Amino acid sequence: MTVWRLLALKFAMVALLAVGVGAWLTPLAGWITAFVALALLYTRHIHQLTRLEHWLKAPGIDNVPDAAGAWGVVFAGIYRALRREIRERDAVKHELELFMQAAQALPDGIVILDRGDELSWCNDTAARHLGVRPGGDYGLRLTNIVRVPRLAAFLQSANPDETLEYRPAANPGQVLSLKSIPFGKGRKLLVSLDVTQIERADTTRRDFIANVSHELRTPLTVIHGFLEHMRDAPVLPAEQARRHIALMSQQSDRMLKIVDDLLMLSRLEGGDAPHREEPVDVHAMLQALAEEARALSAGRHHIEVNIARGAAMSGSADELRSAFGNLVSNAVRYTPAGGRIALAWRIDEKNRPLFSVKDNGIGIAAEHIPRLTERFYRVDRGRSRETGGTGLGLAIVKHVLLRHQATLEIESALGTGSEFRVLFPYWRGNVAGATPTSNGASGAADVDAA
Ligand code: ADP
Repeated sequence: MTVWRLLALKFAMVALLAVGVGAWLTPLAGWITAFVALALLYTRHIHQLTRLEHWLKAPGIDNVPDAAGAWGVVFAGIYRALRREIRERDAVKHELELFMQAAQALPDGIVILDRGDELSWCNDTAARHLGVRPGGDYGLRLTNIVRVPRLAAFLQSANPDETLEYRPAANPGQVLSLKSIPFGKGRKLLVSLDVTQIERADTTRRDFIANVSHELRTPLTVIHGFLEHMRDAPVLPAEQARRHIALMSQQSDRMLKIVDDLLMLSRLEGGDAPHREEPVDVHAMLQALAEEARALSAGRHHIEVNIARGAAMSGSADELRSAFGNLVSNAVRYTPAGGRIALAWRIDEKNRPLFSVKDNGIGIAAEHIPRLTERFYRVDRGRSRETGGTGLGLAIVKHVLLRHQATLEIESALGTGSEFRVLFPYWRGNVAGATPTSNGASGAADVDAA
């Protein structure tokens, strides 16, 4: 029932009571009854109003007053409205929490800025990127916390297509890209992206192109010079012409080797698994490599091979031949005449196939060792070129080993010599016909020397 009807009913009852008493006793008694009843009603309303006023001082869903009649209807209405509002507020709060969690989970930094570029909120990534304290720095101007030249002008322009590069002083290797997006009334969303990897890949790509161009330019310049010379002096003595042609052919061989190595590298970088998993006759492969090494050495070195007969593993024969070949030819090229080179294959104490090439050549200073497998990295550029190196050999070795889940260990001392060890996972040695010899201590080992 509505408040209006309940009140009307009450007044009707009072009127009826007063008329009844007036008729039964005297009209004065009727009036007095009406007065007393109305006074009682009024007092009750004042009491309920006081309760309402008291509740309004600390309004809560649990302490809404309860009453009968018209006030009961009002209080019940208040209770329902309050419950509805709390439900709606909880739903909004939940949505907001979800939104905050999503913003927090973003891999990019997010900062909300007020009209005056004051920090209003930021996620943890932005706090890490920009060095601001979530909560602690709220209300402060971002330009007073983050000292980036051009930041104020950048925020002013608020052009979402524009980016600002920022290298935090606290983390010098890191490169961030900032984007400012206007929203609402004069507010901004500042997004910070960590572009360190992209930047690094870009630098590597630029360096690589510069290196390849440089490597190819040198032999091309030589060939170009000879061709110009031959064009300007068409009749050359036969001996000189032969020498020029021999030198040009040497340079074109060099270019061919660089291009071949580059193609091999790009093929190796293109996939994860070896092209072909097959049983590899390591014994035959290393004997052939030793022969090639002897040909390259032309009798200047003592070359020794220590391989267990029946040595075999699973992998890609072509790729392994290329990797082992690079290690063997490096040993020959970086060992002065009269030096010793030892190729060995064994199963180590953890059952892992192990290939090693040891020389007593020029050796490598410790600071170069971690960088040897980078493309075009050489300790001595001149010596590498003189001996026909491309600077890509160990990069190829690294990629072949990656594709065979193998690791490369390099032990070297300047002036004493180097040992390159390739360790394969044990299961690569589980091939039918393989001879499981431990620590090379096998009676069935071939020891060739030349
Ligand atoms: P390169 O074609 O120049 O030999 P690599 O990638 O095969 O290129 O090797 C990179 C560098 O590592 C070489 O330039 C050389 O300085 C060094 N290096 C590799 N093997 C040896 C070795 N056995 N002894 C001394 N230095 C070596």
